[in-house]
Amino acid sequence: MNLILLGPPGAGKGTQAKFICKKYDIPHISTGEMFRKNIAEKTYLGMLVKEYTDKGNLVPDHITIKIVDERIRETDCKKGFLLDGFPRTITQAEALDTLLKKYNLVINRVLFIAVSNEVVIERNVGRRVCSSCGASFHIRFNPSRLLNKCDYCLGELTQREDDTISALNNRLAVYKLQTKPLIAYYRSNKLLSKIDGACSAEIVFQNIETALGHY
Ligand code: ADP
Ligand code: ADP
Ligand code: ZN
Repeated sequence: MNLILLGPPGAGKGTQAKFICKKYDIPHISTGEMFRKNIAEKTYLGMLVKEYTDKGNLVPDHITIKIVDERIRETDCKKGFLLDGFPRTITQAEALDTLLKKYNLVINRVLFIAVSNEVVIERNVGRRVCSSCGASFHIRFNPSRLLNKCDYCLGELTQREDDTISALNNRLAVYKLQTKPLIAYYRSNKLLSKIDGACSAEIVFQNIETALGHY
């Protein structure tokens, strides 16, 4: 099963991706996480994209499309995959369609996690991520057991560089302008399932399971 997770920054895509990938046994492909890992490891790609991600701007399409192309060709994707945060522009969606055709694959469903602006801001501002394993927590909704320590690996919890108010405002503006048109794109393909993201993470996942039905 090949899936896409769509939604504004901080909607809970990463949180739901963990649940989905565990249940359906498919790899989680998050372009944002791939970029953050490369930035932390100071790779060439990391140095190339940091100026964009820090400010909350999109990384240029050709760079993003290339890393997704390479990733979906890896053997673990033979059983399916979950794209989280990609595509984010119409150009990326069209490039993905071309890639899928080339590899004889289809997208089975696009899960659009819908939340209001207020919820988005609250979730982003309170988000804390593990600097070692990338796990995501929230100071209010999903606090770690020990203060500022990851539940899974005891790594240090930090705030993402782009979870500052100014970068966040920019990410929201970029989302409205560049990513929102994808909702209509996938609705017209009859692939879109709109999921109410404003409830607890467990309930959101139940709604996703319902949307995926027989899979
Ligand atoms: P995204 O990947 O869409 O940016 P995350 O999964 O990282 O979003 O979630 C953003 C923040 O909101 C995190 O701090 C996470 O713990 C918290 N969060 C995720 N889902 C929920 C939910 N259903 N209710 C409350 N908080 C949530
Ligand atoms: P969020 O969890 O807030 O939705 P991500 O972790 O998906 O954000 O992405 C973080 C940053 O990485 C984005 O603000 C952008 O700079 C970059 N990025 C991630 N995915 C893409 C993409 N598909 N196209 C362009 N830039 C991307
Ligand atoms: Zn950790």
